Amino acid sequence: MEQTVATSPAPVQSAWSKRPLIISGPCSAETEEQVMETALRLAKTGMVNMLRAGIWKPRTKPGMFEGIGTKGLPWLQQAKKATGLPTTVEVATGKQVEDALTFEVDVLWVGARTTVNPFSVQEVADALRGANVPVLIKNPINPDLELWQGAVERISRAGVKEIGLIHRGFSSYGNTEFRNAPMWHLALEMKRRLPEMMMINDPSHICGRRDILQSTAQKAVDLDFDGLMIESHIDPDNAWSDAKQQVTPERLAEMLEAINWRNEDVASPSFHAALDKLREQINHIDDELMQLISQRMHVAEKIGQYKKDNNVTIFQQNRWSEILEKAVKKSSKLGLSEEFISRYMDAIHMESINRQNKVMND
Ligand code: PEP
Ligand code: MN
Repeated sequence: MEQTVATSPAPVQSAWSKRPLIISGPCSAETEEQVMETALRLAKTGMVNMLRAGIWKPRTKPGMFEGIGTKGLPWLQQAKKATGLPTTVEVATGKQVEDALTFEVDVLWVGARTTVNPFSVQEVADALRGANVPVLIKNPINPDLELWQGAVERISRAGVKEIGLIHRGFSSYGNTEFRNAPMWHLALEMKRRLPEMMMINDPSHICGRRDILQSTAQKAVDLDFDGLMIESHIDPDNAWSDAKQQVTPERLAEMLEAINWRNEDVASPSFHAALDKLREQINHIDDELMQLISQRMHVAEKIGQYKKDNNVTIFQQNRWSEILEKAVKKSSKLGLSEEFISRYMDAIHMESINRQNKVMND
């Protein structure tokens, strides 16, 4: 008779399914002591489920610290042994995948600078074939959901069963508040496309600074993310990479404790009834808005026809400045942000021009 032995799930399996999943560790593994001390202090908080560390660092400019390389992998192995925390490392090439697996890294992650490049993602995917290891995929640095989804498909076609997503924001020129613009709506759209896939948030790379980490993490929690990846360093100011955004393990614990972990859903029928009513209202308003926008476009087309008949240009700077100014003035009275109204008006204007262009050139 065959004997079955009851085994508890491997530590990585139980960590992977923890909610919220909290991954922390230094941006980069620097020394054996730094990795061990970070791991021990993170484990002591009792709030972290997985240990991260960059071994190979894709840096924007040459001459910066590009990671300790393969020699740092045994340090993570020791840290795992000492704390029981499963480990995760960024991989960008086939060789890095091989090395990480040789040294028993539990979860691999694909970084933002890799997700943008289908050649690299394919190379990583090919190296993963046959390996039974969960993979996290960060959003690409540019706001392109097709690339993000493409990376998921490549890794999935390599036979990887457990895939998760990390939202780390998108780079944009002249961004001031955030190092990488969160563009939450894109993360939510990705969640809509892949509802079964876990998605965690990386406030460290979104913020690029410590003072807004907590509010950003709270926002992710409010939007029902499955967890957080936050960088932690024993001496943040002297970190070899991303010094401004790292926090000590103890500070991390304080932040996590202060977060209001909301429930995704509550059972109360009266809550659902109230919510349903409000959602119904939103649906009606959205319908009306669409009708109005459609009417506005028809008027724009009429203007296009008129301009065509009289042979005048589509775009008239004065008229547009006037409309925009009026809208912005009104927006504050209505409690709408100037930024939102400007973006909204821009989109309307662009569509208007396209419609008029069609009329004039048909
Ligand atoms: C990192 O996690 O340290 C990192 C390099 O992140 P990203 O790929 O998001 O830039
Ligand atoms: Mn980093």
